[in-house]
Amino acid sequence: MPEFEVEVSEEYGHLDQLCAMYWATNADGSFTHTVKALADLFDQPSHKVSKIVAEACFARSTSQRCSECDRGFIYRSRTNWTSSARFTPTRCQACIETERRRQAERRERVNAAMRAEVLERHAVRAHGSTPRAEDLNMPAAFALAALFEDAEEFSRETTVPVVDRTDRFTPTPDYDFKLLDLITDLGIVQVHPSSSLESFVWKDDATLDDAYYPTLASYYLPGTGALSSRVEDYLKSFTQVVSRDKWPDRWVDQLSEFWVDIAVSECKAYLVHMLQRHGLEFTPGQRTEDVFRRALKWYSIGQMYYFIWRAARDSAAYFARERVAAKQAANSAVTRISADVERAYANGWQVSTYRRDSRLPLSTLSHILFSRALKLDDPMAYSPVDLPVRRAGLELAWSNIDSTTFERLIFQLVGETEGYENVEWLMHTNAPDHGRDVSAVRLRRDPLSGHSSQRVAIQCKHWLTRPVRDVDVNSAIVGISHWQNPPFDVLVIATSGRFTSDAVSWIENHNSRGARPSIEVWNDARLEHLLNERPHLIRAYELR
Ligand SMILES: [Zn+2]
Repeated sequence: MPEFEVEVSEEYGHLDQLCAMYWATNADGSFTHTVKALADLFDQPSHKVSKIVAEACFARSTSQRCSECDRGFIYRSRTNWTSSARFTPTRCQACIETERRRQAERRERVNAAMRAEVLERHAVRAHGSTPRAEDLNMPAAFALAALFEDAEEFSRETTVPVVDRTDRFTPTPDYDFKLLDLITDLGIVQVHPSSSLESFVWKDDATLDDAYYPTLASYYLPGTGALSSRVEDYLKSFTQVVSRDKWPDRWVDQLSEFWVDIAVSECKAYLVHMLQRHGLEFTPGQRTEDVFRRALKWYSIGQMYYFIWRAARDSAAYFARERVAAKQAANSAVTRISADVERAYANGWQVSTYRRDSRLPLSTLSHILFSRALKLDDPMAYSPVDLPVRRAGLELAWSNIDSTTFERLIFQLVGETEGYENVEWLMHTNAPDHGRDVSAVRLRRDPLSGHSSQRVAIQCKHWLTRPVRDVDVNSAIVGISHWQNPPFDVLVIATSGRFTSDAVSWIENHNSRGARPSIEVWNDARLEHLLNERPHLIRAYELR
């Protein structure tokens, strides 16, 4: 039996003899005629013979067959045939195509069924009211706005999935998840049925589970109007209050926590980025979170960048020098940052403020907070501890006065206030800053017990460039403990600045132990509040 059955196309009928001889085989399977012999016989150049035959006919093998339809495989040239001897397919092209088409149809049917289930389960609802920014907590309000905004474009009806955004939603994936969790738990966004099928969790029988992947899904806003007008309404309500002087009171209180959350996320993103540039993969965990959270009480994001930059460089050197595992080298960066920060803070070192890395673009959430809400010229240098947020209209020009004037102001404030008597200067001859504290007797009138009195010392700290730290509070206590006749019951620390969180918790701890004197805190915000009720003092001291 010949190896090939030759089929010549109709229009090449005159070449059927050449085709038949080209594909003719001997009993051992070898070709009967050489191409050279055919070329001579048919008066054609040798190199053209195969090309002519390939155009005119195809040869179907009688031995090499498709495992499915059992038809012989098709060859166009001898080269085609010899090369296929090394790799013989099991099925013919037609069968493969048919199978592929069948699979695509099956997939389409399954997808259509899945989509129908999504449409039913996540049907767009018209009920409830569209959230308004001023009713939400700060993180939820900002996250919702950021979700609908991407690369200066606003989504009209549904959000772009977080994984498909042009600009990042937040600086890090873990913060993306945290905020998506927050707003979906609050029910202020719903999963839209147009979300890709991969956004949903499917059971083995291709039915819908309740879970979904938050960063893959698209969301829409609850409410009753058209989806586009819900988005418009929310963004309008957000624009009305986004600027710091328009904030609801609640947001003023929530800023420092929200700020630290974003700042921690910014620092994590930068650390991962810098280590990656040094070839070290790193996933921030709880320890990274704790180290950054503590450090950001003292330092701005730009200053943290300085610590991170150095730590990444040193960890890369450690990796190269000691040949430790990459993971160990990357983790050592956090230890370095922690140690550096503690050392810098304890020694009061001046820490440089690094600029943002242009290879690490700003997330939409950060952009909205830094630029639209706080209108910061340099977010990298901003720290809510150093520059307290105050309601617009209340802030006082503390830099107009020096520390001696600040002490006089406090003296007059206490002297004018009912319930304080015997207001005097308390001279510290040995005080390191030669500051003058104020002492007074505070009278309490109790309808049952009658009068009681407390001896109060007020220490003045006109500190505009640094916050009051726990060590400062401790030394203030030591300072007034020399007066034992009679001892002070209360120590008030009055500052035109802020207290670090560590100082605040130190004081809370001290007071809860019932230690004497108990400590009271008058920070900038409190003094501004007190002085706004006494406008003549603001005028007299030219504080506005
Ligand atoms: Zn076949």
